[in-house]
Amino acid sequence: MKIILKNGRILDPSTDLDVIGNVIIEDEQIAEIGDDVEIEEDADEIIDCTGLWITPGLVDMHTHLREPGEDHKETIETGTQAAAAGGFTTIACMPNTTPPLDTPTLIDYILDKASAPGAGGVFVAPVGALTVKNLGEKVADIAALKKAGIVAVSDEGCPTQNALVMTRAMEFCQQLDLPIMAHCEEASLSEGGCMNEGPVSSLLGLKPMPRSAEEIMVMRNCLLALHTDCHVHIMRVSTWGAVEMVRQAKYLGARVTCETCPQYFALTDESMNDFDPNYKTTPPLRTPTDVDLIAQALADGTIDVIASDHSPHADYEVQVPFEEAPFGMVGLESCVGVTLTFLTHPGHLTPLETVRKLSTAPAQILRLEAGTLSPGETPVAQVTLIDPELEWTFDVNKTFSKGKNTPFHGEKLKGKAVWTLCGSEIYRDQSFDEKRSKVNL
Ligand SMILES: [Zn+2]
Repeated sequence: MKIILKNGRILDPSTDLDVIGNVIIEDEQIAEIGDDVEIEEDADEIIDCTGLWITPGLVDMHTHLREPGEDHKETIETGTQAAAAGGFTTIACMPNTTPPLDTPTLIDYILDKASAPGAGGVFVAPVGALTVKNLGEKVADIAALKKAGIVAVSDEGCPTQNALVMTRAMEFCQQLDLPIMAHCEEASLSEGGCMNEGPVSSLLGLKPMPRSAEEIMVMRNCLLALHTDCHVHIMRVSTWGAVEMVRQAKYLGARVTCETCPQYFALTDESMNDFDPNYKTTPPLRTPTDVDLIAQALADGTIDVIASDHSPHADYEVQVPFEEAPFGMVGLESCVGVTLTFLTHPGHLTPLETVRKLSTAPAQILRLEAGTLSPGETPVAQVTLIDPELEWTFDVNKTFSKGKNTPFHGEKLKGKAVWTLCGSEIYRDQSFDEKRSKVNL
């Protein structure tokens, strides 16, 4: 099988390549790439990529697949299908399942299901639980989990309150050369809260989660990273103060990286006026100042990654009073559109830097063979085509994910992943062939 991607804008941050050119994919591998690649008309398919970005398959380092234990919210099958439709060819799945991913058997289970025929065809990189049963008390057998195939450990959903437990985990991970993905939340400050502390929470009379709940734990984990020399990845930074902590930690030489998520550069706590639980997330939506400074920190490189924090819930779980609703929103299928609309088109990020945050950087942080278009660097070719100018309305009823909980339903977006290849084609957008045939006329 030979596929030729012709005349697209090739954006490969792994080699800083940004040129108009061609990509030849042969026998599931990238054979040739560049602005001087000659095309012969012997391919099985030639795709005219005029106006499209040709990027390495996108990598989401923060997805909740909900299996095992909560397949009413999402399954590995539906979650990986959603990933493919969002342009992702690799996703890292979080360990706060039921039971938590704290044994090699559970890691085997995830890997088996992810490669089953009905799944979305993307690579799933499991993240192991940092402590036994996610209780925050005893560090899990991380060496055994690493042998089973985890790419990191995390306390996602169950932030480690005990600093000694976190220190021990960092010492183990430093020896094992595994990153820790840290959920930074000081529970004594955030407990019972459901939105950002400020004028809006006072107006609505909702119990707040102060920004210090996030920032104190970011600071603690950055300091522990500095002193243990462990690679710590700070998950979903949402405040300017947390950004400053990460900036200082990097300056001091700590092995710290961090991510943010689309809701933290696209939405503020002011959008919560109608008590819609789809806006409820942790950390909570912050202020316009935070949104501006998150965009700046993405541009200056302090924030390395844009991750979806795809957090599906069943309808009946979300259709309850705001205080009782669970935290989180789905994100895999809106991530590219929201990112291009709120960051790239307004000029905060160049196209190459956008792709770096969505593909190359997360691949490098998790040491994955992904995030590059260089021939021979990945087990199979992983390529996403993005139409940066496509204007569309995000309709959650047309998504693959079981979770329909999102504040972006009905949002007009500009930019979309329209074709995803992971070895073979795993997603082709409805708009794709319509628009291609128009181009060919
Ligand atoms: Zn999460």
